[in-house]
Amino acid sequence: MTEFLSPQEAQQPHDHSRCVSHALDAAEQVCAREGARFTTLRKRVLELVWQSHKPLGAYDILETLSRDDGRRAAPPTVYRALDFLQEQGLVHRIASLNAFIGCASPEHQHEGQFLICLNCHIAIELDASPITAAVTGAAEAHGFAVQSQTVEISGLCAQCREAA
Ligand SMILES: [Zn+2]
Ligand SMILES: [Zn+2]
Ligand SMILES: [Zn+2]
Repeated sequence: MTEFLSPQEAQQPHDHSRCVSHALDAAEQVCAREGARFTTLRKRVLELVWQSHKPLGAYDILETLSRDDGRRAAPPTVYRALDFLQEQGLVHRIASLNAFIGCASPEHQHEGQFLICLNCHIAIELDASPITAAVTGAAEAHGFAVQSQTVEISGLCAQCREAA
């Protein structure tokens, strides 16, 4: 499998169809490994989440599905598909935006750390295991056992800072 774009590259104009096909390939592999069914709907929802590097809300996904199919998609179906994608690590949920972003490396188990641009709303996933370790360590100092952690950092991305 070809490498995904680095977060820096993903910010620049690029051939996004590559990102999408890599994401779908990785998803096929993860589901095959886990013995999970990558149904047409799950695949379609993942494709929609991957339409850009900006987190997408469940409502936007519903709207697009309904428009494409010419009939109203059932919300529970879409929520279940998103739950599945999240469980398989194929998408991350950005709580501060109540939205979902595709994961570029679902084959590796990891916690999510994101730089979220307040201007263009791009979310850049960091591969920063030292952050995970630091949070776990700080929590342990309080006798706290971390179950999951998603770090969301807001600010301005390089592109937007340049344009400002
Ligand atoms: Zn892309
Ligand atoms: Zn990820
Ligand atoms: Zn930006």
